[in-house]
Amino acid sequence: MDCLFCKIASKEIPAEVIYENGGVVAFLDINPMTLGHTVIIPKNHAENILDLPDDEVEPTFLAVKLVTGMLMRALNPKGFTIGVNHGRMSGQTVPHLHIHVIPRYSGDGGGSIHSVVKYPPKEGIKETKEKIIKTNNGD
Ligand code: AMP
Ligand code: ZN
Repeated sequence: MDCLFCKIASKEIPAEVIYENGGVVAFLDINPMTLGHTVIIPKNHAENILDLPDDEVEPTFLAVKLVTGMLMRALNPKGFTIGVNHGRMSGQTVPHLHIHVIPRYSGDGGGSIHSVVKYPPKEGIKETKEKIIKTNNGD
């Protein structure tokens, strides 16, 4: 499969790896939004969270926690924005799941996750809840 992040996982393409174990690799983003911007990937190809096998969820997100701690100790940011561009519509350009860990600094000019999109629904959240529960539990 011709996947950039699979190639980084297999060392076919170099990257600035800051953490690695049997299942995951964490490396510095080649185009960092802030100092220490890191992406964490499962080594096995999965396009997004829905494709990630259940037994890889825990190790992947444990690595997110571990790497966040590494960045905290090394760079002492004021906070983090941690997130996934999930699907092309949301801005995912590399179709291999990666979790962005973006250290935040005072004066970095960024916003919160709430600034990513503004498209509030016409329906109320009770209606939305019914839809979700009904679809997933039956009537
Ligand atoms: P996304 O838009 O969520 O798919 O993010 C893909 C990220 O991968 C971007 O932030 C890129 O800067 C980063 N990226 C692309 N190629 C490389 C690479 N060879 N090494 C490290 N990061 C990369
Ligand atoms: Zn891949």
